[in-house]
Order: sequence, then C-alpha cells, then structure tokens
Amino acid sequence: MNHPTKQQSNILFLFSDTGGGHRSATEAIIEALHLEYGDRYTTEMIDIFKDYAPPPLKMLPALYPRIVRAPRAWGLGYHLSDGPRRVSALSAGAWPYVRNAYRRLVKEHPSDLIVSVHSLANEPVLRALGKARPPFVTVVTDLVSTHASWYHRWVDLCIVPTEAARRRAIKYLLSPEQVRVVGLPVADRFCQPPGDTEALRNALGWPTDRPVVLLVGGGEGMGPLEKTARAISKANLPVVLVVIAGRNKNLKARLEAYDHWMPTFVYGFVREMPDFMRAADVLVTKAGPGTITEALNAGLPMILYSHLPGQESGNIPYVVSEGAGVWAPRTNRIVEALRNWLDNPGQYDMAVRACRKAARPDAARRIAHILVETLEKHKAEKELSALASM
Ligand code: UDP
Repeated sequence: MNHPTKQQSNILFLFSDTGGGHRSATEAIIEALHLEYGDRYTTEMIDIFKDYAPPPLKMLPALYPRIVRAPRAWGLGYHLSDGPRRVSALSAGAWPYVRNAYRRLVKEHPSDLIVSVHSLANEPVLRALGKARPPFVTVVTDLVSTHASWYHRWVDLCIVPTEAARRRAIKYLLSPEQVRVVGLPVADRFCQPPGDTEALRNALGWPTDRPVVLLVGGGEGMGPLEKTARAISKANLPVVLVVIAGRNKNLKARLEAYDHWMPTFVYGFVREMPDFMRAADVLVTKAGPGTITEALNAGLPMILYSHLPGQESGNIPYVVSEGAGVWAPRTNRIVEALRNWLDNPGQYDMAVRACRKAARPDAARRIAHILVETLEKHKAEKELSALASM
C-alpha cells in the first residue's frame, strides 16, 4: 500500500486466497478504481485468514484445496450452515476466539471505506469495528446459489452479480435499498473487444492452424482435470489443448509427464488469463464463478465438467440457460460436446454470441463508482456534522 497523503482516502479490501476468485475480483475493482480515478484513492488488500486469523483458521487458504477435495462433506456443511440464524449462531460461537485478531486488524488499518470480498469477513470485522465505523460494502463473488453468510444486515450496501443473488439477499433479510445488482467484477483485459487472435497465439507460442481448447480447474486445479485432459487427448480431436493446473504443482508435474496425443501446453498458475481466454476457442472448466464470468466477457463458450456443491450448484443452470455453455459431468460427454461444436460452427457461433449477451463488461468500473460515491457521501456527512457541532 502507498501511504495516503492528507487528501487521499484509503479503501480497505478484505479477501482470502481460498480459491482464486476472491483475489481476482478484488484486483479487478482496484484496477477499475485506478482506471477511473487515477491515484486519488489508496487501496489495501488483507487476507482475512492468512494475515490475521489465529491458528488453525490462519491455515485455511493453504488447506482449502484439500478441504474441497471432499465435495460431499463441503456441500453438507454449506447446506447445514445456510441461513441467517445459523450464520449468527456460528459467528457468535467463533467470536471469543477471533475477536482480538480482528480488533487488531481494524486498528492497524484505519480506512475510509471497507469492502468485503469474502463472505466470512463480514461478521467478525463488523463486530470488531463497532458503531463508529466507516461505510462497509460487500461485493458478492458467487453467482446464483449464494450462502447466507454473504448477507449481513449491518452493511451499508451489498453489491451482487445477478438477479438470483439479489433475491437471495432479500430472502436472507437485507432490505431492497441495501442491494444493487451490478455484475461480477473481472479484470479490464477480459472485457476488451476481440483482438487479433493470431497475434495473441503467436505471442503465447501456440499453433494458429486449429482451435484451442483451454482446460482450467480454478485457481487450485480442482475437479477431475487430469482425467479430462487424458480423455480429450485420447479422442485425438483436431485441436490444441492448453491445460492450466493452477497452484496444484503435483498435477502439473503429472500432466507434463503424460504422453499427449495432440499439441498440448501445460501451465501452472498463470497471470495472463485474459490473453489465454481471448486466444482460446472453447473453455473446459469447473463451474467457478470468476472463471465463468471472465469467459462470458471474453466471448468464450464453455463446457462445465464439475462444481463445488453449494455455492457453485446454481452456476450450471445459469450458464446453460444463458446458452453460453453446456454441462458435461463425464469425460465422454466433454469429448462429445467438443466434437459437436467442431462439427457445427453455427451452434458454436450462437454460444459465442450468448456469452457476449450475458457479459457485464462494465461491472468493475460501476462498482468503483459506487464505492467512491459511498465513501464521498460519508465523508461529506462527517464534515457537516463536525461543522454543526462547532
Ligand atoms: N486463475 C488465474 N490463473 C490460473 C488459474 C486461475 O488467474 O492459473 C484465476 C481465474 O482467472 C479466476 C480465478 O483464478 O479469476 C478462479 O476463480 P473461480 O471463482 O473460477 O474459482 P475458485 O478458484 O475461486 O474456486
């Protein structure tokens, strides 16, 4: 963080590297703030677990990939805890244990606006802040089946990506005035008009004479990614296969050792996802909200092969009903879906158009505007009340 000068206001973002989506959304909003307002506002990102929580919660980002490898147990936990009263009861139970850590967080990071980009940041940080606090805004990064912990009644504003997420906010006791449907923020480069694909592929070192299939399992290389890569490879389709193993180093090593039957490029965690998506023709992925939204913006039709029960369940009907992709939970169905798009360019083009129709390329910039309006309004009110009390 740059230290704010007297005129600058500071915006604190609360996120965590549990998966890759919270970081991507936070960075997209910060990028939009800089694009729209230059250096007028300083920003800080705090990982609510890694940077402040007491052990073992501190290890949650590191343990997350292992935890979600038991999807049934995860789904059960999600459903059992999904309700405002249950969230309150769980949070009240955890409060004595985390209170010192989060009180320290708010003391060490004085800010003019706090933005929560992680559902589990809301309750402890709002409690730690007390009544005399800066405005607190939540940006929900799940698309449809959003958990009750995203919706805290004390927030000034809750920004959601879809109408379905807005309905859940109201069901979970937020007032309509607290909720704004804007879209899920993604990096500006996903939202640029389609550029010169051939130049992008040349720069990446990929062949330009056949379609590119991009295979991604979120930030952690989740889902049956290896099995899927092998099945696509064995089908020997006339495509280039690009596989991203994310932070999963073992998976990357196994994929590299495999004798692929088609031109194949294997990567670990990449920072150039906007170029990868804009250079590819089809995305094969788990139903992660960040990846889906980036693909919609990049006009990249998708085949969804798995989902995390709970927060990602609603993403599949969402993508399918928009016409932007298909659900193919088994490897033979993935290969079938790929073959279908290769054989039917008309159907493929329709899916590209559906992606662009469902995209909200201005979401990050609109969120930046809303944050600044909220911050400036609060500042003006504070100045007025200071004048009135003189
Ligand atoms: N991602 C990335 N590089 C990688 C793999 C993933 O930047 O090598 C990003 C991806 O573009 C997306 C995020 O990580 O923004 C994954 O978010 P998503 O919500 O899809 O899934 P999660 O990892 O949070 O479960």
